[in-house]
Amino acid sequence: MHGTMQYMENHFDLRVDPTLLVPGAKSVITLMMNYYPAARQQEDAPKISKYAYGNDYHEVIRSKLKELLQLINQQIGEVNGRGFVDSAPVLERSWAQRSGLGWIGKNGNLISKQSGSFFFLATLICDLPLEYDDPFAKDYCGSCTKCIDNCPTEAILPDKTINGSQCISYFTIELKDALIDEQMKGTFNNWMFGCDVCQDVCPWNRFSKPANEKAFTPVPEILNLTTKQWEEMSEEVFRKTFKHSPLKRTKFSGIQRNLKFIQQS
Ligand code: SF4
Ligand code: SF4
Repeated sequence: MHGTMQYMENHFDLRVDPTLLVPGAKSVITLMMNYYPAARQQEDAPKISKYAYGNDYHEVIRSKLKELLQLINQQIGEVNGRGFVDSAPVLERSWAQRSGLGWIGKNGNLISKQSGSFFFLATLICDLPLEYDDPFAKDYCGSCTKCIDNCPTEAILPDKTINGSQCISYFTIELKDALIDEQMKGTFNNWMFGCDVCQDVCPWNRFSKPANEKAFTPVPEILNLTTKQWEEMSEEVFRKTFKHSPLKRTKFSGIQRNLKFIQQS
């Protein structure tokens, strides 16, 4: 159900065998990084997923993974490893569950009892043997169905199956150079870039605390721009303002397409 996201289909062999990514791999270290913002966008502004308020997490976390590997090398000796953050065929959520960090909720997110789900996952695969954690054994979704009931496009199916090609994040971010299916009109609820509904309604996120990483401090324009200002923005201003933002993934043309789509809805 991945629509045009061909990359999800590719390299299945690498996804299930980390030794193909790091020869001689013995351990998978899973890391979480909170991105929950302290501030919110203007009321009525085109909505942006909270993970994209600050700087691009790929850039921020990649350098932290490098630092961690350097530290391991300095303190332990020569360790071969590679860090990943959404950049290669790695089953981050499964590894996180197997690392004991939490369970995969009905909304498809990794949920931690302590931290909810507003965090990024990163993975360091290395050839250092470690004392392994036990997989997280329980599932604390229980009889809750809030994410399923509130998903604006009915993209969350039973058995933790997400119809990726029906999700607002797919349409507004991953669907490249194409028009959004007319049938979806009226369902986006003003989401212009991504969607947080299935996380916002999750009871495990009630106690989320703001992130303390400076790089994830919201870009002021994300908090302050009105619909009119988004509409009137030039490509040059977009590029300059969002140079280090996840918004660049969908490009200026994608933002314009999304804006038009939610306004027609
Ligand atoms: S991100 Fe939004 S559209 Fe996608 S599954 Fe969650 S609630 Fe549904
Ligand atoms: S909203 Fe409820 S069912 Fe959905 S992930 Fe959270 S706890 Fe699980």
